Amino acid sequence: MQYRPLGQTGLTVSIMGFGAAPLGNEYGELETKTGIRAVHAAIERGINFFDTSPMYGRSLSEERLGKALKGKREQIVLATKGGWSDPEHFDFSPQNLRQSLEDSLVRLKTDVIDIYQLHDIEFISSDQILNETLPTIAQFRDEGKIRFIGITAYPLPMLGEVAAQWPVDTILSYCHYNLLNTTLADSLLPFAKENGIALINASSLHMGMLTEQGAPSWHPAPLKVHKASQKAAAILRERGSNITELALQFALSNQDISSTLVGMSSEEEVIQNANLVGTEPAEALLAAVRPVIDPIKDLNWQVGLPENHEPDAVAPR
Ligand code: NAD
Repeated sequence: MQYRPLGQTGLTVSIMGFGAAPLGNEYGELETKTGIRAVHAAIERGINFFDTSPMYGRSLSEERLGKALKGKREQIVLATKGGWSDPEHFDFSPQNLRQSLEDSLVRLKTDVIDIYQLHDIEFISSDQILNETLPTIAQFRDEGKIRFIGITAYPLPMLGEVAAQWPVDTILSYCHYNLLNTTLADSLLPFAKENGIALINASSLHMGMLTEQGAPSWHPAPLKVHKASQKAAAILRERGSNITELALQFALSNQDISSTLVGMSSEEEVIQNANLVGTEPAEALLAAVRPVIDPIKDLNWQVGLPENHEPDAVAPR
């Protein structure tokens, strides 16, 4: 495994992090013991950064992760989130955040969360985030219940705007730095680097799309993005390679990203993925998929309040 500093937190994280959305059955039904084995395999291979949320499986991911981390909590950097714990409702009120944090601490069987993130701030006005929500979780930090503060969202501009006005420690962006979209590198990355904010790149497989099994049915990307990635997968298969491998090599090769989160559903996936750390994407394979990816590259879809959409975003599928 390789490690990088997590911004200015003083923490060091593995460049491949364990995304725990699959532990909440977000990518299909998983047996608890399979998920726990995947977590243990990740720790054995040096993965020390774990990201979850009460939203993933409506607390199931945190419950399973808490079980898996029994006796291992001190070996890892633990990130979870607040503000979104049920698909229909966002609640970033101080009362709900406090209750949500207390519940997360119980499920994760820990006294402190290393990175506490506001989950998908694009669903809330930046006014509320800046004037109510961030000050609330700063209080949790003062009380010693969390160590560092992060924000997460899909649209990049809002992440940058909030982070420019409030000193967050980490920013988690998803589906904006992988084979299909690299817009993170142009906008948010230089800002984060300049300001010592750790950048966490989530969904390096574009929420499961860059795999042989393909995207889950709920995936919001327009159909032409699904089709292009299926064509790219076929091109790589014909060449004896694999879309997941190339996608992870590509995402991991960016040195300015503290950690790339990959959602992993089994010990086998953990082993395959961890073995890619330190390997580079082959230029010939990148060139082979470029003609099918270029026409849909950097395509964003609308997520959150209309005022927070990226200017060029299209309607989701
Ligand atoms: P992802 O792009 O990492 O894809 C996950 C899917 O890929 C799962 O179905 C998994 O089983 C599969 N996969 C992984 N390795 C594989 C392999 N070697 N072969 C075949 N399939 C493989 O999507 P994700 O899980 O959504 O993103 C990673 C993590 O980032 C999440 O689990 C979560 O922790 C975090 N995240 C956070 C936010 C947010 O805070 N707003 C948004 C998205 C993701």
